[in-house]
Amino acid sequence: MLPSIFGENLFDEFFDDYFTGHPAWNGRDPLYGKRAKNLMKTDVRETADTYEVDIDLPGFKRDEITVDLKDGCLTVSAAKGLDKDEEDRKGRYIRQERYAGACSRSFYVGDVLTISQAMPYLEVKRVVTRTVQEEIPYDTVTTDSADLPFDTYKIEQEGEEGLDEVVYEDTYYGDSNTPETVEISRTTLKEPVTRVRLRGTKLANGMVVSGTNGTWVWPVPNYKGISRWMSATHKGVDIRANYGASIIASDGGVVTTAGWHYSYGNYIIINHGGGRQTLYAHASSLAVHAGQAVSQGQVIAYVGSTGNSTGNHCHFEMFENGVRISAYKYFAGM
Ligand SMILES: [Zn+2]
Repeated sequence: MLPSIFGENLFDEFFDDYFTGHPAWNGRDPLYGKRAKNLMKTDVRETADTYEVDIDLPGFKRDEITVDLKDGCLTVSAAKGLDKDEEDRKGRYIRQERYAGACSRSFYVGDVLTISQAMPYLEVKRVVTRTVQEEIPYDTVTTDSADLPFDTYKIEQEGEEGLDEVVYEDTYYGDSNTPETVEISRTTLKEPVTRVRLRGTKLANGMVVSGTNGTWVWPVPNYKGISRWMSATHKGVDIRANYGASIIASDGGVVTTAGWHYSYGNYIIINHGGGRQTLYAHASSLAVHAGQAVSQGQVIAYVGSTGNSTGNHCHFEMFENGVRISAYKYFAGM
């Protein structure tokens, strides 16, 4: 009277496909192991006035199995979970895996015995808890120091990276290899220490001079090598310097030109007011733009060899009362 299907294993094929093809598990099945293939053999025998259900579910304990008879439909289901923990030497969890699986079969056992549904399902969710330590980068703060020679740097305080302990929970659904990751907690084990860097602004003797209507600062501090001073055929002083050295504003004012010239290359003109003006040429790059107000000593460009130039230097022109003057007038003694 009972269909022979009850004596077979409806799940064989299903589990074969499922477990051997599960990429996240590399062919092994942590939850059901080798028994997966024989999972859930169910026999239902009809006796005089009742049914006898014989369930063979290797790997499952009795309390993991539920048999439910409702409206003539018998449902056998089983569920189990598996915990795998890894601890570090201090006994803290560094990895926790929890597997959860479930399967069920339903039979219709009404007056006329038919199988309404032999639909196995197995939903496997794998949850992995990871505890990792993540570095926290430190910030660097640069502070001007009048005690240090111009453009020299001193580390006042070394930076130290901080450390966070972060717990993530990765959940793998079905046969997906890509987990949904949730940050469970983050604990700062060590705060980062800010790196403090001092930048020198102190100018050497002779690099600040008094002129008409204000003071002048030598535009490439620390570099005293002169290729040539202003002459009848040369409009400024050429100051030899390393590529990238800072060029600073000789006095405060407003940048009136910051751009390119076929001969000057990258150059800047600053109007200091009162007929005072300066020009800086052949820069590798510019640090300010036209219209910008600058203060005396502010970095406005970096030494290069752009335009009509044969080596790294800063060509520097000065104007007082609207007239071009030689820097030699003020800086001869450098
Ligand atoms: Zn020149």
